[in-house]
Amino acid sequence: TGLLAGFEALVRWQHPELGLLSPLEFIPVAEQSNLIIALTQAVLQEACSQARLWKSQFPPDFHFSISVNVPAKYLTKPDLVQEISASIAEHDLPAEYLRLEMTESGIMEDPESASTALAHLSELGVKTHIDDFGTGYSSLNYLANLPVHALKIDRDFVSQLDLDERKSMIVRSVVALAHNLGLKVIAEGVETPRQLDYLKALKCQYGQGYLFS
Ligand code: MN
Repeated sequence: TGLLAGFEALVRWQHPELGLLSPLEFIPVAEQSNLIIALTQAVLQEACSQARLWKSQFPPDFHFSISVNVPAKYLTKPDLVQEISASIAEHDLPAEYLRLEMTESGIMEDPESASTALAHLSELGVKTHIDDFGTGYSSLNYLANLPVHALKIDRDFVSQLDLDERKSMIVRSVVALAHNLGLKVIAEGVETPRQLDYLKALKCQYGQGYLFS
């Protein structure tokens, strides 16, 4: 339809000497330490606060969601669900406005606690996305039984859509897989009108990327 469906909160670091840093330059370092927890909490707070502001600025029939990326270390936090629940309550944000994204690899690091966390989040009304789908090492059978809302097709497949026949077959298959499982599907990294046309032809419902932003 071309209508706006949601946003993804992406972190950047405005460094006093080095300028604007890409997440590629600091996320891996943060992930090696526990700083990734504090960083995720900060992004979560900012995302909830921004979503609440937009909700008050736009007509009530404008529905949108804001997605926050949840790294493996945060996903296994025992008080994850309480923290998420407290954040949305604190910002008076209805749960359906927040989405959490986690990678297959993040989930597979500790499948048991991830599965428990996902079930609790789903009860809370917070929907979840599997990020970078198709690039991690995971069991499809396991993923198929998780209470998630959407699969996100990795940008690596999307960027090759019009160039690589095999990658476009993978996109077609992931879209079919998602739909057969009753899940939504979101293409990441849509940058050209041609990629958008391909995705539409493959019946992919949602897309994100520089083409839209
Ligand atoms: Mn993401």
